[in-house]
Amino acid sequence: LNFGNAEFVRSAASPSQFVRDGAPQIVFAGRSNVGKSSVINRLLGRKNFARVGSAPGKTSQINYFRIDRQAYLVDLPGYGYAKVSKAEKERWGQLMESYFQDEGELITLGVLIVDARHKPTADDCVMCDWFRQSRCPMIVVANKVDKLKKSEVEANLQLIRDTLQIAEGEPMVAFSAEKGEGRETLLRELSLHCG
Ligand code: GDP
Repeated sequence: LNFGNAEFVRSAASPSQFVRDGAPQIVFAGRSNVGKSSVINRLLGRKNFARVGSAPGKTSQINYFRIDRQAYLVDLPGYGYAKVSKAEKERWGQLMESYFQDEGELITLGVLIVDARHKPTADDCVMCDWFRQSRCPMIVVANKVDKLKKSEVEANLQLIRDTLQIAEGEPMVAFSAEKGEGRETLLRELSLHCG
């Protein structure tokens, strides 16, 4: 699968705009500011494909990118931004519920991006549950690992595993969107779920 061949398809703010063509969908989720856009840009080898640092939490929409004409990379709206209104949070919840319950979507992999430095938040655990309930395989990406000392990495990954209750055999990738660490490992995992 050639991740260099990516094109923006559309944004969906409501179920009528969802993409339901039967092609596999790899779904990216994460807290606002965790670096989800940066991870996607790093994976695709592009600079400003997914928007980096744009007003966090302001975008309650799902972005679809087509990869190599055969799969979709689906960018879910970031969550957990403190300054978001209650109405906006409810809109996020409804959009997620619609997306995960939609029969037409073929979700083949959930990619949950968390901050390598911190214990996953309650919101991260909720997102993790969305993926589990949809019964798709899931991979956790611990981003911003460049901000940790080498000696801290292992304990932090274990804390993330424990908090999200990730089984030993389930994949987790230490990642740095900034430095590129983990890119090859993650691309390999994604390729396994595209066909
Ligand atoms: P999003 O809201 O999850 O899409 O996050 P962004 O991609 O906009 O990134 C939020 C901020 O974190 C930006 O200032 C990025 O430059 C920074 N950032 C993202 N990934 C990394 C990383 O791996 N390492 C470091 N040090 N900073 C990162």
